[in-house]
Amino acid sequence: MTEKQMLIADVITYFESWCPPLLAEKWDNVGLQVGTLDQTVSGVLTTLDVTEAVVDEAISQNANLIIAHHPLLFAPPKKLDTTTPKGRVIQKLMKHDITVYAAHTNLDIVEGGVNDLMADALGLEQKRVFLPAGHQTFKKLIVFVPKTHEQNVKDALHSNGAGNVGDYEKVSFVSEGNGYFQPNAEAQPFIGHAGEMERVEEVRIEVLVPEENVRRAVAAMIEAHPYEEVAYDIYPVEMQGKAYGLGRTGKLPAPMTLVELALLVKQRYNIQHVRFTGDASASVETVAVLGGSGRDYIDQALQQADVYITGDLTFHETQDAMLEGLCLIDPGHYAEQIMKQKVADYLQTAFANVPIHVSQVNTDPFQVI
Ligand SMILES: [Zn+2]
Repeated sequence: MTEKQMLIADVITYFESWCPPLLAEKWDNVGLQVGTLDQTVSGVLTTLDVTEAVVDEAISQNANLIIAHHPLLFAPPKKLDTTTPKGRVIQKLMKHDITVYAAHTNLDIVEGGVNDLMADALGLEQKRVFLPAGHQTFKKLIVFVPKTHEQNVKDALHSNGAGNVGDYEKVSFVSEGNGYFQPNAEAQPFIGHAGEMERVEEVRIEVLVPEENVRRAVAAMIEAHPYEEVAYDIYPVEMQGKAYGLGRTGKLPAPMTLVELALLVKQRYNIQHVRFTGDASASVETVAVLGGSGRDYIDQALQQADVYITGDLTFHETQDAMLEGLCLIDPGHYAEQIMKQKVADYLQTAFANVPIHVSQVNTDPFQVI
C-alpha cells in the first residue's frame, strides 16, 4: 500500500480484517472512541491504556492514531469536565486531532490476539479456546462472471477473506454455463447492446465467506467484476466453523513445577512480579490462561487445567480455588500489554511508510517494592 493520503480509515479497515469488532462481547465498547477515521494518518501509537502520558507520547511522536486495548470511554459520560483527568485527556486529544480506537474483547478473542499471545509465549501446545462463546459462521456467496474475468474476481474474493475454511485458504467451486440478459435503453453494458438479447459464456463461482468478511469480500468482488449490474446471491449456511471465545487452554511442552512455570510467566510476559498459589514443587502440565481479570472463571479452570494464569485475583476466591486443588498464577492485569508489539507489527507489515510506535509508557497503576 502507498503512503500517499493514507487515511486512518484505511489503517482501521486493515486492522479489522484481522480483528473485527463483531467478535467483541455485547457489553463492550470497541471501535472509534474519540476523533475521526477520516483524516490522513501521520503515525500510529499502540498502547494498553490511554492516559495523559500516552497522549503526550503520541503528540511527541506525531502520531494521530492511538490504538488501545482498554476502551477510553465505557459508561456514557454525562459531561466532559476538562478539570477531571479523563476530561483533560479528551480535551488534549481533540486539541491535537488525535483519534483513539479501541480493540478490547475482540482482540482478546481473535486468533493471534491477547490470549493466543499469552499462551504462545509459554509454548502451549494443543491449544483450545478456554471459554467458547460461539462458532465462526459463514455465508455462501455465489457470483456469475464472464469466463474472461474468472481469475480477477476469484483473486479479489480470496484476498478479502472469502474461501477461508478451517486450515484451507482460497477454496472455491466453479462451474460453467450461459448467462442471458437484455440491456434496456439506460444501460451501459460491458457486453451487448440496448434492446438486444445477449448470451454470454459465464462461470458460477461459489465461495464460503466467514461472516465477518462478507462486506469487504462483496465490495472487492463488485470492484473486480466487469459488469454494470453484478449478479450474485448470498445464502445463509447452517454449518459452523472454529470455536471462538476468551482464554486458551493447552499443554506445556513438558511438565514443570509450579514455581518454574511462575518464573517462566514472569520472564516471558516481561513483568516485575507474579503471585502464585499452590505447592511450589507440584508438577503442572495443563494450563488455562486468560488475559485481564479472570477470577469469574475459576470453576471452568478447575475442570480443564492444573494451573490457571489470570490477573486481578482476590483473596477469598484464590483461597477457595487453592483448597479445591487448583494452582493459580497471577501475572497482573498489565500482562495484557503483550498486545502492543503484536498490533504494531501487524500494521507495520501493511503500512511500511507509516511510522508505527509501541508506547513506552507504563500504565500499570501498581508499583512493587
Ligand atoms: Zn484488560
